[in-house]
Amino acid sequence: MNHTPQQLLHSLYGYEDFRGQQLDVIQHVIDGGDALVLMPTGGGKSICYQIPAMLRDGVGVVISPLIALMQDQVSSMQQLGVNAQALHSGIDWQLQNQIQQQALNGDLDLLYISPERLMTEACINLLRSCKIALFAIDEAHCVSQWGHDFRPEYLQLECLQQNFPHVPRMALTATADRPTQQEMVKRLGLNLAQKYISSFDRPNICYRIMQKQKGKQQLLDFVQLQHQGNAGIVYCMSRKKVDETALWLVEQGIAALPYHAGLGAEKRAYNQHRFLNEEGLVMVATIAFGMGIDKPNVRFVAHLDLPKSIESYYQETGRAGRDGLPADAWMVYGLKDVMWLRQRLEQTDMDVSIKRSEQSKLDAMLGLCEITHCRRQAILSYFNEDSASSCGNCDNCLEPVATFDGTEVARKALSCIYRSGQRYGVAHLIDILIGKPTDKIKTAGHDKISTFALGQELDQKQWRSVYRQLLALGLVSSDPENYGGLRLLPNCRPLLKGDAQLQLRLDRKVSIKTPKASKARLQIADDDMDLWQLLRELRMALAQDQKVPPYVIFSDSSLLEMLHTKPQSLLQMSHINGVGEKKLDRYGDDFLALIQQHA
Ligand code: ADP
Ligand code: ZN
Repeated sequence: MNHTPQQLLHSLYGYEDFRGQQLDVIQHVIDGGDALVLMPTGGGKSICYQIPAMLRDGVGVVISPLIALMQDQVSSMQQLGVNAQALHSGIDWQLQNQIQQQALNGDLDLLYISPERLMTEACINLLRSCKIALFAIDEAHCVSQWGHDFRPEYLQLECLQQNFPHVPRMALTATADRPTQQEMVKRLGLNLAQKYISSFDRPNICYRIMQKQKGKQQLLDFVQLQHQGNAGIVYCMSRKKVDETALWLVEQGIAALPYHAGLGAEKRAYNQHRFLNEEGLVMVATIAFGMGIDKPNVRFVAHLDLPKSIESYYQETGRAGRDGLPADAWMVYGLKDVMWLRQRLEQTDMDVSIKRSEQSKLDAMLGLCEITHCRRQAILSYFNEDSASSCGNCDNCLEPVATFDGTEVARKALSCIYRSGQRYGVAHLIDILIGKPTDKIKTAGHDKISTFALGQELDQKQWRSVYRQLLALGLVSSDPENYGGLRLLPNCRPLLKGDAQLQLRLDRKVSIKTPKASKARLQIADDDMDLWQLLRELRMALAQDQKVPPYVIFSDSSLLEMLHTKPQSLLQMSHINGVGEKKLDRYGDDFLALIQQHA
């Protein structure tokens, strides 16, 4: 064996340096150790098992939950000239036989297998007859029965330990709170594994959460002003809203597709295929879309509805910017979302303890929406990670939020709920406060109560903001049995009695037309725009030729580097990050020619 991990990194992948803990993991596994690797999305987990698989004797077996994921990885490795294959239900038997033979002959470096296939007797027998370099269990959190990605087949992976006691095992994931970590260790027999836990921060993602006014219009402005021609995902709560939003975006000239469980398997697969293989599509989707979406150049994830926990929010937004280039996580939310989520939770028949836990997760999510300091700090601290300074790349850091002493107005808002009998919705309560003599108010005699016209210092919008914050803070609740009528919760007592103060957020004016530019734009000078398009077109043509997604040919960051440095020779081209020997060989001339023509 005449390679070191560094040599492979340079010659094969064309990368300069290892990132974070990559080299430690690789060295440990090459030496035969087990490893538990927790790295954020886009952190570079794949290399951690690919390099040891190539440097150890035998084939590296990678267990991966989704066919699309496996296919992407196999294509990427083949592009680098590595002999990688996959075994799953989508492979016809002839090719399967060939692959099995290659494995037996020791001709494979990497073999991707679905967990259900791996557990068949035939497959275990096959592997027993092969020399195996390592087992890598990708998306290892799928073994957790409490998580949303639970895969029963993953539970059977326990038997790898018994069947192959001397083969190193690695579990890799981007989602692992403590309980999930413990479950992975227990279920996958990793008691002796070395743990490699990286920061979960995604510094290239800019977080923005703002008040919803006309959600769809705000989204359109955001896409048109900041992400014209970029790929993105828009999450909505319901199928109906997905369909409506996708249709509306198309009418407005944005290339958008819908994705939800109601569409039928074929249509879903088709839309997903288009999203992965074309550039600049916007996928409007329910949370059914996402798991296994490896597309590295998703430039934004937008939420038109509030996710039910910070875990969900972080997982969904984490699909942006896997390539490490600037990306946006953008969300709008309003009073209605808060009420709706709270009510939905009230109405479900869950076990009391589960309900309580969901409740506190939702509280944390709402807290994240309303905070006035750095969002990233708050997110990381939710995942038990401290960060000393504020990030400078979230809305609260970029444009500090004003707060005001809301003690007095909050008291008025609460007492208005109380005086009117704790059963009216926000609109009516606000009418009382601003003294609007509607029929409903007169009929109920609410023009006679003490809070009538007591709140003229704020307008309707501002009162809505106050009620939204009271709901988000858990001081009042809305009653699903009673059309969302508001009730006081015990927490509001100190405030009502004058024993507590309350700082409230002064909502920003939503200046629809001119959102402050985020850092989330790729740095492309106007003069370079043409060449950028041409580079992308060339990449697309090559990709279509070989029936692979464009990012398998070159990542956006490699293309950007070409754009910025305009290499004039193959040698210069070889210095571009992501241009390894094989790709230089295959594509170097084409891209050089294009750059020279354009000069
Ligand atoms: P993960 O599986 O952790 O989400 P990947 O393994 O897909 O992340 O890596 C994300 C991107 O970063 C890929 O495009 C990968 O090629 C690239 N990458 C990984 N390691 C390095 C490195 N050391 N230098 C440069 N790019 C890297
Ligand atoms: Zn910040």
